[in-house]
Amino acid sequence: MEITLLNYTDLKICSHAIRTCWQSFEKGDNGGEKDIELIDRVGNKFKHASTLEHLNYNFYIQGISRACLQELARHRMASLSVKSSRYTLKELKEEESFLPFCEDNLNRAKKFLVFTENQAVNEASLMALENLRKLLIVNISNDLAKFAMPESYKTELTWSINARSLQNFLALRSSKSALWEIRILAKNIYEKLPQEHQFIFENCIAKESE
Ligand SMILES: Cc1cc2nc3c(=O)[nH]c(=O)nc-3n(C[C@H](O)[C@H](O)[C@H](O)COP(=O)(O)OP(=O)(O)OC[C@H]3O[C@@H](n4cnc5c(N)ncnc54)[C@H](O)[C@@H]3O)c2cc1C
Repeated sequence: MEITLLNYTDLKICSHAIRTCWQSFEKGDNGGEKDIELIDRVGNKFKHASTLEHLNYNFYIQGISRACLQELARHRMASLSVKSSRYTLKELKEEESFLPFCEDNLNRAKKFLVFTENQAVNEASLMALENLRKLLIVNISNDLAKFAMPESYKTELTWSINARSLQNFLALRSSKSALWEIRILAKNIYEKLPQEHQFIFENCIAKESE
């Protein structure tokens, strides 16, 4: 998978929001150390977390499976614009057969499928991809063929989320009890955050041992 951070809100917007409550603007330092300490104290420690909602992050997420997308989409406090299978499935039509199961075909299929550590699962995925391709080359419409897509089929989306909701997402999805692929996604998203923002989220990320 590939994650790109497209845009994010400056920390000083959040500290400005907090200082609005006390009208203490003169104490600010334009997103510097004092403002960072304030955000951590009020937003995180005092749980006045609505102030974190002023920080927004826009990501471009590429190459996750539709299984992972289904879980990501459960996070209602976020906005998603997803690559449409209805409009883009023709991408498979230009492809040669994906069978038999061999290194070459597997490598070609990686453009379309998320593979697992289990070969039997990967073989089943490849067969499903080939079945889908066969439907498309006899001109069955995308709107019907999409019902035969495997959950491993790759997708991409623009994902926008505020810091409060991102804390919730990272806490739930970096946990050992989350699905392996969304755990990788959560870790990668955290790593793509601007370094000066990571303090807001570092306590939400599950340790490797947890
Ligand atoms: C390990 C794991 C296993 C899971 N297994 C399943 C499963 O088997 N089946 C399944 O259906 N889902 C499952 N889920 C998904 C889970 O139930 C949530 O839908 C998902 O994690 C999104 O969390 P959320 O509601 O906190 O996030 P968001 O939807 O982003 O909501 C953020 C917060 O807003 C508040 N909120 C949002 N909507 C409401 C509302 N209607 N009423 C009150 N407060 C609201 C809550 O405080 C919530 O935490 C699983 C999640 C995890 C992490």
